[in-house]
Amino acid sequence: MLTVKVTSKTVVADGICSFELTSAEGVLLPAFSAGSHIEVHLPGGLIRQYSLCNNPDENHRYVIGVLKDPGSRGGSVAMHELMEGAEIVIGEPKNHFALARHATHSILVAGGIGITPLLCMAKRLVNEGASFELHYCARTLDKIAFKERFRLHDLVSNTFLHLDDHGDSQQFNTRATFSRSADPGTHVYRAP
Ligand SMILES: Cc1cc2nc3c(=O)[nH]c(=O)nc-3n(C[C@H](O)[C@H](O)[C@H](O)COP(=O)(O)OP(=O)(O)OC[C@H]3O[C@@H](n4cnc5c(N)ncnc54)[C@H](O)[C@@H]3O)c2cc1C
Repeated sequence: MLTVKVTSKTVVADGICSFELTSAEGVLLPAFSAGSHIEVHLPGGLIRQYSLCNNPDENHRYVIGVLKDPGSRGGSVAMHELMEGAEIVIGEPKNHFALARHATHSILVAGGIGITPLLCMAKRLVNEGASFELHYCARTLDKIAFKERFRLHDLVSNTFLHLDDHGDSQQFNTRATFSRSADPGTHVYRAP
């Protein structure tokens, strides 16, 4: 268990806040690999999992993005009520969604808040100079989280945004995208 402080809370899309967490003791945090999540212990005894979405080379902070779920029994609402400076207890990062080694190409597909682990994975692939494409599906532009990350040079050329309200030509084309996955060196990752 680690005690961390919310050093920054930012609205990153309609209904989504990002939280930057740093050690409350001012030490470095345990290393994590792309696709990892942490368990967050919230007021009232709730425990919820959140994917780490920052650069996996960073060990001075964890960044998570949380969607306020309209059907929430309390977890995401409690997260959104946290203010900068609050201290919370988290578990060490665990990874049940790791990138395969030695892929010749990776196809990352996210819907909505599912973008969070894939952002971290995309950054890992950028850092390694690996071949990949990231498809991010959302209802509208204001629901796209972490927009500024997609404008950065390292992600812009590999990222395809698919918006429900932006016409047929840019809709996610399952057949065209997954036809490339027949190559045994290609790995597909999908986060709902
Ligand atoms: C590995 C992992 C990583 C995750 N990463 C993220 C992330 O990066 N960002 C993020 O926002 N979330 C993430 N989640 C989801 C997150 O852990 C929470 O589940 C989410 O915040 C909702 O919690 P909540 O308490 O607000 O809602 P909950 O009360 O858990 O409700 C969630 C949904 O279930 C429905 N529901 C509630 N009760 C019932 C019931 N009895 N029967 C059927 N349906 C019900 C609700 O209507 C609601 O839509 C992740 C989950 C996992 C397992």
